[in-house]
Amino acid sequence: MFDTSPLSLAQSLLRCPSVTPAEGGALALIESVLREAGFEVHRPIFSEPGTPDVENLYARYGSGKPYLLFAGHTDVVPPGDASRWRHDPFGGVIDGGELHGRGAVDMKGGVACMMAAALAFIRERPDFGGSIGFLITGDEEGPAINGTVKLLEWAKARGERFDACILGEPTNPNQLGDMIKIGRRGSLTGHVVVEGKQGHVAYPHLADNPIPSLLRLVSALIGKPLDHGTEHFDASNLEITTVDVGNPAANVIPASARATFNIRFNDRWTPESLEAEIADRLREAAGNHVRYTLTMEPTNAVAFLTEPNDFVGFIAKAIEAETGIKPKLSTTGGTSDARFIVRDCPVVEFGLVGQTMHQIDERVAVADLDRLASIYRKVLDAYFPS
Ligand SMILES: [Zn+2]
Repeated sequence: MFDTSPLSLAQSLLRCPSVTPAEGGALALIESVLREAGFEVHRPIFSEPGTPDVENLYARYGSGKPYLLFAGHTDVVPPGDASRWRHDPFGGVIDGGELHGRGAVDMKGGVACMMAAALAFIRERPDFGGSIGFLITGDEEGPAINGTVKLLEWAKARGERFDACILGEPTNPNQLGDMIKIGRRGSLTGHVVVEGKQGHVAYPHLADNPIPSLLRLVSALIGKPLDHGTEHFDASNLEITTVDVGNPAANVIPASARATFNIRFNDRWTPESLEAEIADRLREAAGNHVRYTLTMEPTNAVAFLTEPNDFVGFIAKAIEAETGIKPKLSTTGGTSDARFIVRDCPVVEFGLVGQTMHQIDERVAVADLDRLASIYRKVLDAYFPS
């Protein structure tokens, strides 16, 4: 029999060295624990030329509706120089009321809380009538090619249909209960190259300097806001991330100049409509004498929103009951695997406090593990009323 308290599960997971793409024993542990509780467990391995094979886990308890899915990942980013950590990054050491280790908050701690909550719920109500599942990848922190996207396709091909999903990424900036993420911005990267004509600085009439033209194009990109935000999103933001000429000579007019930009965009845009806007701005600024090319990188990060509905309400209420805090419904931050899951069902993100994620001495308050498990448990009770 496994000790299925959130702390014990988190500690065991932290002791698995599962730096992407290594499984490190983490999924094997989850498999054993869930099997013992009556879950049907699968461990699909996905491959793609040029990327490492990745192990994943899918588990389901029950066959009825509705079907609530817990999603997450067990892979972690590397610890860096382990000697700079207060405790072994894979030791699962408890010190001063905190559990230390790589993945403590991102997101083995979250996975442990989901498991503890689901197992406690099933122990009490084995015949609750619906279904509870786990979709756990080992490829979130890496290329994310052989992870959630393929796992969802695999599940869909088996006929699995989810009704709602909680992704347990660390969403709280300062304390447990601060923030639920009900959507995420999209991300789009583009490159502009202006072609001129190389020449001697003393004979500019024989050359064509691309730099002033590039500056004009860049100014057009940042000159006016893309939008002013939407109901649940901040304004979209375009950042110029680099401007490159690479000219080592002070007496040469360079042949070409390039700039790269990244846009974090809200639900007013699709990658296509945004690309059209960018193309328009450049065309207008270029007139008919600047020669340039615009290349957009392919993106799978579109903006999405889970409308605040009953499900979001259950989670917000559970958080408030446990912590006394009314959580902020937010769409800030980077992208996450939620952008893939939302194609199949509404997804809401709520997990631990993110302050130490990816840092040296990543750690979680032991009390937060108990409280997060209790929040998830309350969500299960509300989602599957008896
Ligand atoms: Zn994560």
